[in-house]
Amino acid sequence: MGEKIFDCLVLGGGPAGMSAALYAKRGNIDVAIIDITTLGGQPVNYLEIENYLGFPLIEGWELSEKFEEHINKFNIQKFTNEEIQNVDLVSDIKTIKTLNNTFRAKTVIVATGAKAAKLGIKGEIEFRGKGVSYCAVCDGAFYRDKEIVVIGGGNAAVEEGMYLTKFAKKVYIMHRRNELRADKIVQKRAFENKKIEFIFDSIPLEINGGNKVEKLIYKNVKTDEIKELNIQGVFPYIGFSPNVEFFNGQIVQDEKGFIRVDENMRTSEVGVFAAGDVRKTPLRQVITAVSDGAVAGMSAVKYLEEVEMLAKEGVLEA
Ligand code: NAP
Repeated sequence: MGEKIFDCLVLGGGPAGMSAALYAKRGNIDVAIIDITTLGGQPVNYLEIENYLGFPLIEGWELSEKFEEHINKFNIQKFTNEEIQNVDLVSDIKTIKTLNNTFRAKTVIVATGAKAAKLGIKGEIEFRGKGVSYCAVCDGAFYRDKEIVVIGGGNAAVEEGMYLTKFAKKVYIMHRRNELRADKIVQKRAFENKKIEFIFDSIPLEINGGNKVEKLIYKNVKTDEIKELNIQGVFPYIGFSPNVEFFNGQIVQDEKGFIRVDENMRTSEVGVFAAGDVRKTPLRQVITAVSDGAVAGMSAVKYLEEVEMLAKEGVLEA
């Protein structure tokens, strides 16, 4: 990118990133989005979204497409397939190094999102793509007439478990407590689904098989009894961990790595903001990501205005 210095670089082109870029651009600053793949973020892999206001039912990819069409109207620059290697968020001019390029900017909005958390049990890595999957939408059709187990008790586990019953003969949902975390309306639908069997108070211990997954060894945490489940697929849906590998401790994060921000989405580094699933937040939804992005975009605009004002007064260099 030569010596160009953007006013604002948005890292991540999911709902938070696209919203941040839109608000920044409408605040009349020079903004670009960098994404490791194409724009869209996590909703691209969601089946149907029922709680994005204004859309009682919309497929994830469709909502993402609408977001992108919207930002395209504002001619926001996009750099796709840019894998971030390392960053300098501490200097006044921030630097983002990707495999192909070096980008510089006065402000950065981190909206890199989160990825599926791992179970961390034996067999999980070995059988990835051979029966272990983190994406029901992508892989569900491979499990036609098979028996599978979904791990977790949140909205993702229960909703994706229900989706998998379209293909699988039987879906077990294994949860470590005896009460689901998913919304009541989602629970009700799942309890009514004849193809789903819940296994409560249980944690997975080991995934076994030959070339492909054949078994899950698990433990009942109340009785300590060890049991086996004959299944051909394991879908862990146990929450998310933030995509923050490249920050190298430059901004303050919580114990799980989520970035801490204030109400203006400001991080611990001046000129660096964070929005969406990557930040510490009580709710990770498309609608909250979009809201965060708006706040972060506006905060970046205001920050640049303040810097400019101080420069005019001779307090700072612009
Ligand atoms: P979540 O709500 O944090 O639920 C994670 C579940 O996994 C919890 O039931 C948790 O158990 C369990 N768990 C955590 N660590 C575990 C471990 N090591 N072993 C076994 N179980 C473990 O996460 P989520 O369901 O992925 O949802 C994340 C956010 O996305 C939520 O805000 C959700 O509403 C939203 N969302 C996602 C979808 C989707 O992906 N289709 C749809 C709608 C909404 P405990 O309950 O005991 O903590």
